Amino acid sequence: MSIIDIRTVSHWIDGAERPSRSGRTAPIYNPATGAVQAHVALADQNEIDEAIASATHGFKVWSRYSIAKRQTVLFSFRELLNARKGELADIITAEHGKVRSDAMGEILRGQEVVELATGFPHLIKGAFSENASTGIDVYSLKQPLGVVGIISPFNFPAMVPMWFFPIAIAAGNAVVLKPSEKDPSAALWLAQLWKEAGLPDGVFTVLQGDKLAVDGLLNSPDVQSISFVGSTPIAQYIYETASKNGKRVQALGGAKNHMLVLPDADLDLVADQAINAGFGAAGERCMAISVVLAVETVADELIEKITARIADLRIGNGAGVDGVEPDMGPLITDVHRDKVSSYVDIAEADGATVVVDGRGYTVEGHEEGFFFGPTLLDKVPTTSRAYTEEIFGPVLSIVRVASYDEGVELINSGEFGNGTAIFTNDGGAARRFQNEVEVGMIGINVPIPVPVAYHSFGGWKKSLFGDAKAYGVHGFDFFTREKAVTSRWLDPATHGGINLGFPQN
Ligand code: NAD
Repeated sequence: MSIIDIRTVSHWIDGAERPSRSGRTAPIYNPATGAVQAHVALADQNEIDEAIASATHGFKVWSRYSIAKRQTVLFSFRELLNARKGELADIITAEHGKVRSDAMGEILRGQEVVELATGFPHLIKGAFSENASTGIDVYSLKQPLGVVGIISPFNFPAMVPMWFFPIAIAAGNAVVLKPSEKDPSAALWLAQLWKEAGLPDGVFTVLQGDKLAVDGLLNSPDVQSISFVGSTPIAQYIYETASKNGKRVQALGGAKNHMLVLPDADLDLVADQAINAGFGAAGERCMAISVVLAVETVADELIEKITARIADLRIGNGAGVDGVEPDMGPLITDVHRDKVSSYVDIAEADGATVVVDGRGYTVEGHEEGFFFGPTLLDKVPTTSRAYTEEIFGPVLSIVRVASYDEGVELINSGEFGNGTAIFTNDGGAARRFQNEVEVGMIGINVPIPVPVAYHSFGGWKKSLFGDAKAYGVHGFDFFTREKAVTSRWLDPATHGGINLGFPQN
């Protein structure tokens, strides 16, 4: 395919695709083949302004829709998504590379939030206190913020935006979504679906772009809030810049999730879970397990079991070949694959044992694809950058610990606090763990404890900047602002006459 045949993925502004005039683009790869399959527009300041202006108008229209009318649109969106999610899964697999069943999985987790949002009237209704003081009623209203910005990472091109926009829209806001430039088409597909569901133009806008688009949202006085998910350094930048500009901000960052295995756990079940959580989506999940803390007495046996299972994993094109889907697809880019590989080099140089080596892995027929084989490291020194930093690839590190206490101490000493898990049959130990561990999401014999939609998602420490988690009650609080109204209808019996002090009746 020549360069001129390749399509350019555009913005979505005013309820339609808007081809870019910026002259700036970035390549979109098919990670399974390594080929450039399209380009994505990168917005310039004019396009940023157009997107925000359209959303500002959309907000004026949408925020006046009644609750009942908004709910009808939400239900239509849910029905369309449910009926046509296979199309979206194909798009995700083609641009991200993850296996198709996993793409369906991320859509289902996003759909959960859409389903939660359909019940929004209950979650945004205010409270009423009759006769709080004699003849005085106090009540609260929850109103939308206005134009809200969402900036999302490459690893969940549908689910992460869906953590936010169903709730933001249900609450009456207008959304400007800036997807990852690595896999931007899912956002456009979702925009089209909103249109079909009856959402007015301008309420859901997709602004394609890079740092310029992000900074445009951060610096615009017409954008009221920012919801960000991505790596920790960028999350921190977003948090600081958006707060400085007076915006409400939630910024979810990176992770380094540990799974602590106590000697009483069933090691076959643990090995299965370590494989699923370490190598699912090729380790490109913020809730992936990247470190297994094995109590020394069971470490050798566990490593043996994990190694045997790795040998059976099938790696290939996530779309499947001849109808057969592999277990694991490629990484997002060659640059990222090389970075993952460099962490294995670092671990080895620092004294770790490379038990299974995924470096240089190729898939027959897909030699140019961005594949990296599942990798198992043992005895990773906790001073190594391969231990302290997020690798975000299919690399599982074993760190041997003497006891439960040493394991918890290690988890708590890290800079991240996204997810963690304990594997044990000892209820007392599990209960202690949930109390003592300094992490936002905890699994007890569950390796990837992503909370369901009606609980909220978010980590501690450098995994979340700001005080609002994603979705659940936090989501509704984030996307609304409250007014408290104190009201009375003056009558001679209760108005109290002249009184310059605080009324206290
Ligand atoms: P990233 O930080 O590189 O990019 C995220 C978004 O920020 C993208 O839209 C990108 O265009 C934009 N961006 C990148 N550099 C920027 C800059 N200098 N200034 C302004 N904007 C910039 O993250 P990624 O590689 O797309 O995603 C992977 C990361 O996201 C991992 O660290 C992963 O742990 C994290 N993540 C976290 C969660 C969570 O819930 N905590 C969920 C998913 C992913």
